This record gives sequence, C-alpha cells and structure tokens, in this order.
Amino acid sequence: MRLFWFSLLSASMLPSLFAQTLRVQVDLSDAPRNFFHSKVTVPATAGPMTLAYPKWIPGNHRPSGPIANLTGLHFRANGQEIPWQRDRIEMYSFHLNVPQGVREVEASFDITTTDSAGAGGNAATSNLLDLNWNQVVLYPADAASDAVQCVSSVHLPDGWKFGTALPVAHASGADIEFQTVSLTTLVDSPLIAGEHYREIELTPGGDQPRHTVDVVADAEGDLAITPEDLGAYRKLVAEAGELFGARHYREYHFLYTLTDVAGHHGVEHHESSDNSAEERMFLDPTEKMLEASLLPHEFAHSWNGKYRRPAGLATRNYQEPMIGELLWVYEGLTEYLGDVLTARSGLWTPEQYRDALALTVSNMEEHVGRTWRPLEDTAVSVQTLRMMGSQWQDWRRGLDYYPEGELIWLDVDTNIRQLTSNKRSLDDFCHLFHGAPSGPPKVVPYTFDDVIRTLNQVAPYDWATFLKDRVTKTAAHPPLGGIERGGWQVVYDAKPNPFLAALESRYKFYDFSPSLGITLGDKGQIHDAVPGSPAFQSGLGPGMTLIAINSRKYTPSVLNAALRAAQDSHQPIEVLAENAQFYKTYSIPYYEGEKHPHLRRVDAKPDLLGDILKPHAD
Ligand SMILES: [Zn+2]
Repeated sequence: MRLFWFSLLSASMLPSLFAQTLRVQVDLSDAPRNFFHSKVTVPATAGPMTLAYPKWIPGNHRPSGPIANLTGLHFRANGQEIPWQRDRIEMYSFHLNVPQGVREVEASFDITTTDSAGAGGNAATSNLLDLNWNQVVLYPADAASDAVQCVSSVHLPDGWKFGTALPVAHASGADIEFQTVSLTTLVDSPLIAGEHYREIELTPGGDQPRHTVDVVADAEGDLAITPEDLGAYRKLVAEAGELFGARHYREYHFLYTLTDVAGHHGVEHHESSDNSAEERMFLDPTEKMLEASLLPHEFAHSWNGKYRRPAGLATRNYQEPMIGELLWVYEGLTEYLGDVLTARSGLWTPEQYRDALALTVSNMEEHVGRTWRPLEDTAVSVQTLRMMGSQWQDWRRGLDYYPEGELIWLDVDTNIRQLTSNKRSLDDFCHLFHGAPSGPPKVVPYTFDDVIRTLNQVAPYDWATFLKDRVTKTAAHPPLGGIERGGWQVVYDAKPNPFLAALESRYKFYDFSPSLGITLGDKGQIHDAVPGSPAFQSGLGPGMTLIAINSRKYTPSVLNAALRAAQDSHQPIEVLAENAQFYKTYSIPYYEGEKHPHLRRVDAKPDLLGDILKPHAD
C-alpha cells in the first residue's frame, strides 16, 4: 500500500511534505573520452547521512544503475573533506557523518560511460553524447523521487547543440541551466548533444502539444530526412493520438542518436524517448526498414508503461526493487501497438509488417523452452535474463514477453473484433485504459485485474482464463490464434524473408532454425541450436563451429546449396564441425529444403489483420 500511496500522490503535494532540493552540475566537456564529471550539492544536517546512487532504472526494469563506473568520489562541506564508507551489503549506498555547522554537502565524482545504463556500449563518440541523469546523481537514500527537487545544469563541449524534454531556464553558449524539476522528472528526461544536430518539427502550425525529432549524428550528412519519412513521422503522431484518444505529456521529443560506434538502444520516457540507431538510418532503405518500429514502440510507451504502469514497476525511488511479472503487458502490448502504429503511419508497408510478424512467430517457435517455462516467468526473471547470450537461448528462453506478448495482444485484438462483429477493437481498450484526460505526466498503476476489468468493458468474455492460459501455462507452440483469426497463416518456403535477409547482411547472422534448427555466424559459429531439431538430434550444439558441408568449406550459401541438394538426393547432409579443438563429422538427415517464414492469406476468412493496419487519422 505504501507504494500506491506515494505513486498516487501528485508531485505538487509531496515537496511541501519533505522538500529537499539538490543542485546537479554536469560537465560534459570530456564526453568524447566517455567521461562525465558531476557535482551534486545536497542539503544536510549534522549526524549520519546516507546517499544513494540510482540502482533500479526505469525502462531497464532491473538493477542496472552503472555503479561500477562511478569513480573519483569525494564529499566536501565548508571546504573540508568528509570521509565516506560504502554500505557493506548495499553497493549503491554511501554513508558519511556530517560535521556540526554544515548546511550542505557537495559530492563530486566522475562517471565512465563505456557501459551506460539502457545501452550496451559507449554513451558518447567524438561528435555526440547521450546523458541519462541517473548516471550522474546521488540523492538521500530514503527519499521518494517525487519529493526531491533538482536544479540542474550542463556544460557542453564547445559548439555542440542539444535536445531534451527537460524545460530550459537559461542557455548561454555551452552552459545550459534547466528549470527546477523533481528527481523523477530529471531521471525521466535524458539529453543528447552533438556537433551535428537537427531539430525536426512534427507539429506544424504551432499545434499543442509540440512534437519534435531531435537528431544528433556522427556526420552532418546523416541528418537528411526525406519528405516521405517526415510525413510518416507526422502521421505517427496523429495515429497515436487516434489510438489513445489523449496525451500525457507537455511536449514530446524523439531523441535520436545516429552512430555506428555507440550503443544501440531505445529507452522510453514520459515526454521523450532515447533512441539510437545506425548512422545511415535516414539514408539507407534497409536500415530504415529494420529500425522503423523503434520510434513508434518507444512513443507508445508514453501511454503504456509510463502513464499506465504495472504496480510492481511503479516504485517510489530508484532503490526500491521492481517486480516484472506484468511486463507481457508493459512490453508485449507496446510491441504490438508499436508495430501496428509503424504500419498505420506508413513507416512500414502492410507487407513489411506481415514479414516482421512472420519472423516473430518463427523466432518464438524456436524457443522450445516454452515447454518448461511459462511466459510470465520470462517477465519475472528480467533481472537474470536480460544480459544472457545466445547459447541455449532456445531452451532457456529470452525476453519472450516482448515477441510472444505481441502475439498475445494480436490474439486479444482479433478476439474482440470477432466477438463484436468487428465493431470494437483493442483501440477501444486503449481509449479506456490509456486515454482521457490529457495532461502533464503522471503515473496510474494497474494490476492484472484492472486489465481484465477494462477488457470486459470493451467486450464481455472470460479474459482472465484467456490470458492466464497464454501467460502462466507451458505449451509446445506460441499463440497463433491472432494470426489465424486475422485471416492469415504462417508458411515456410524458400523465398527469403526481407527482414532476415537484412539481418544477414548487417550482422552476419544466418537463421537456419526453421530448417536445420541452428543459427550461425558467417564463419560457421553455431550461436544456438533448437532442442529436438535435425541439427540438434545429429549432436551439434552452440559453441561448435561448422568447418565443411559435404566436404566443401562452410559458407552460408554452401549450406543453402546443400539443403537444396538433399531435397533432391535424399542423402543426409554431412557436416564437419570443430568443438573446442576437436573435429568430428555429423550426419543430418534433413530433406525439406530452405525454410523462411511468411504470412499467407486465407481467403475463406475476413482480413481482420488488414483492418487493424489501416490508418485511422485524417
Ligand atoms: Zn519497450
């Protein structure tokens, strides 16, 4: 109940109860060396004091605060050094004893950003940076983040420009001062900056609230956007408005970092999203197709995840543990709505949407760990699963609450449409659950029962059993009811799936899972094997390397040719593989040729999926 009490109180009530104001000054001039300098001034009284470094990071849903990167820490008051001691159990807490007569303590420290929260890889390059404020603050350990006020500023590298949803109080050259906001809002408002910066206006004519894409890139030429793409992003704003029926932000910034060398990620916030993609994302059609759903996904989170948040993730500060069991709603529904918005806005064609969905199904069919691990357990286990590699992932499962959650919400949407003769849909659920009234950011927590209650308002049905069957039970196959009810079926044939082809050329990642049951690198490294598949049955497994196929040196195309040859000859494929310095031959009796996933129309059924993807906004 305590958690609800804090989350439901409005931010304006809390400061009067326990007003504490931090001053946060960040010097970003060393960003190209992946090194931020921070100074945090905290009100203090004499006696023991504990300051905390944010541990549980919103959007990460896990204790990912980069504490190991905190270096050069000093506490000072009235010019005197104050000794500190790290808590022996809680690595994110620092204890100090504040001397008599001291009114405020100044903490100074550096943060190395080679492994930043929310992203694998560097937070900066020679030309740009991505600042997440949780990296650079310490705060009173027991305080609610809504109750702490922050006066913050940054000093940028010379000549760099910036984008952020954080309201600016004063900007003068490289020095930017921001308006006083709560610690919650500060941590929710990342800042990007760079030598090459462009603000793209998405809300023409001065309409409110305002939407922009703020882009920084490694080169000036990367900032170009085609009129078609600009139109699609404007349409995305309109389609999201139609879908949810209200907006819960004062203005919205799509922060977009385009670089090949920093970490790639998307992290959601109330009034912005922190996105990163390949440098030539706006210029290269293949990159554009692969990244098209990133901004729609993170945008949908402003409603689903930020405004409406599972009670277990609506914590009072960054030290309180998060409970992930409803992430199949938080991320699964966002994955579904994000992809639907990608198609409705024209960032994907309906065919591209279907090819992406077919690939999702194919990936989930490989995750045979579903036979021992219910989907809900992948959400509960986010802390342990997030950083796991690919080896035996098919058997372990990964963050399946995203892709399998998407299939479940398509199942829900088509079921609502069928129950109501296509008069109602998941859009109606979104209006009720995420909609009016519009206003500034706030959090309205929910439980599983709240989801069921709202679904029943849209279309009465035994939704609790429907969802529990799919979320809490083990099964042999992913839920495909949405695709079937939508008037389509998943088929596998020799025609390449364009998303898989793009992933092959970008990552040198070759998916032979639907056929042989293995995923491979270009040097023959087996990334994973599907238990029960032909390759698995022959004795192959992740960690081994394919050397030769039917006596010929392995390449992906040699293996594809062998698949086709075996289809005609009905002779097993002979594979020479290396396993930790030892060589062995494996025989795979597989004769069904190449298999790539696609959706095929079932003419006897109405095309509900086609209806779902139709644009709604004028
Ligand atoms: Zn997400």
